[in-house]
Amino acid sequence: MLNAVPAKKNKAWLAFTATPIFVQKLKMAAGSQAAGAARGAALQESLLIAGSSFNMKRCRLITKPTAGKSSIVKGPVLYWMSRDQRVQDNWGLVYSQELANKHGVPLLVAFTLVPKFLDATWRQYSFMMSGLQEVEKELLKLKIPFHLLLGKAQSCLPPFIAKESVSVVVCDFSPLRVSLGWVKETGAELDKIKVPLVQVDAHNIVPVWLASDKQEYAARTLRNKIHKFLPEFLTEFPLVTLHTHNSKLTMKSTNWIKAKESLEVDMTVSEVSWATPGTNAGLKVLDDFCTKRLKFFAAQRNDPNKDSLSNLSPWFHFGQVGVQRAILKVKSYSSKHSESVSAYIEEAVVRRELADNFCYYNPHYDSISGAAQWAQDTLKAHKKDKREYIYTQEQFESSSTHDPLWNAAQLQMVQEGKMHGFLRMYWAKKILEWTSSPEEGLRIAIYLNDKYEIDGRDPNGYVGKEIIIIIIMCIFEQL
Ligand SMILES: Cc1cc2nc3c(=O)[nH]c(=O)nc-3n(C[C@H](O)[C@H](O)[C@H](O)COP(=O)(O)OP(=O)(O)OC[C@H]3O[C@@H](n4cnc5c(N)ncnc54)[C@H](O)[C@@H]3O)c2cc1C
Repeated sequence: MLNAVPAKKNKAWLAFTATPIFVQKLKMAAGSQAAGAARGAALQESLLIAGSSFNMKRCRLITKPTAGKSSIVKGPVLYWMSRDQRVQDNWGLVYSQELANKHGVPLLVAFTLVPKFLDATWRQYSFMMSGLQEVEKELLKLKIPFHLLLGKAQSCLPPFIAKESVSVVVCDFSPLRVSLGWVKETGAELDKIKVPLVQVDAHNIVPVWLASDKQEYAARTLRNKIHKFLPEFLTEFPLVTLHTHNSKLTMKSTNWIKAKESLEVDMTVSEVSWATPGTNAGLKVLDDFCTKRLKFFAAQRNDPNKDSLSNLSPWFHFGQVGVQRAILKVKSYSSKHSESVSAYIEEAVVRRELADNFCYYNPHYDSISGAAQWAQDTLKAHKKDKREYIYTQEQFESSSTHDPLWNAAQLQMVQEGKMHGFLRMYWAKKILEWTSSPEEGLRIAIYLNDKYEIDGRDPNGYVGKEIIIIIIMCIFEQL
């Protein structure tokens, strides 16, 4: 395996990167359809290979192959943290540290805070920023400086990289349009200054680009592919440890008040009391789930009256708890609760990774045009069908429909920031039924979900709503 190339071979590899064959590969990579594959090859052939405990298939090179530069890693490695907001159990940070250690250079972590993100409010921002404060403290103990940069990555990272003389940037992965845009634009900026940007899928257990190279249409088409890769990727994490090459760096603490003042979000949607932000609190929820609720998960997960879910989606969404950690822990209960363990793996691995697959390969993941053409045609044909009730966004938002169950679900979402998964289906189905068009229904469902749910603005949510459309259209009978 390439990631197991012995250190002593590196000289030979460095020499190889100067050969015409390698240069030709780089040229190929610059603009062709095979860019992704060639960049992958260049990544593996360069000194961007981390230590032997890191599987390089988790990575891909975003910038154009810059062998000349990437083979000289003299300045710090920067981990640009975004979706995966935790220190331990984070392949992005594991890779960054292994790379920094291999080259004997400092390691930095930066998070770029945008003043507004889709329909997120103070509820979600506060959950995220409290988690990041915990990250900062944990990094401090490991002598790894944390930098909170205000603004979009493509604007604030390049000057920071220049100032700190960063040699390599590592980022994590999200399939959402805005996040892909940040990575693409930052990559273009880094191309100009010839600093490589390496992306690690630190959220999925099986990297999304490896699990499948196309949009999968149902869990049944992705399930086997994911399970085939699990033995290779569902492995224990190496620890992120004290970074010994950082001794000359100064550790400054973040001005979180200034960060809060920079936000341009709805501050009236308040924090919730049941969910304490941060990795430590999230790991306690995981513990609690395994010891108290997991045994009921298989039989009762579709009953909103029972407390049998993991409730981990807020911590998963912000990457405060790695799903891989949760699965490793849940799996350790296999002999006691085998059915529940399998059911949990189906939800948290197969269904969740299917959602990432859908958003990654379908650029219209949050609109009706994301559905199959014939489904769109059927929707059009039924556009004028008479609807029993039609409500406005305001009526939905204020729980003012004729249906007490729907109103209660909506109220719970507004007050507590999380609705039971089974109720979410009922809630979304009814919005689509009680609006003048599927486009309007989908728009309102996304708006409410993203504004109030702590775990909103997540691939799972966009797919959840597409699935509702699909259920209504009876498109995928065997989902
Ligand atoms: C209309 C609708 C909207 C939804 N909106 C969101 C959302 O905004 N954010 C979000 O994270 N999930 C969303 N889901 C998916 C699912 O309902 C939630 O992930 C789940 O209820 C979260 O609670 P939990 O962590 O206790 O889940 P558990 O039942 O304990 O499941 C564990 C994990 O498995 C994953 N999972 C569970 N069900 C699904 C599913 N149907 N699809 C994909 N992954 C799943 C989640 O990561 C979840 O945290 C939505 C579903 C529907 C039908």
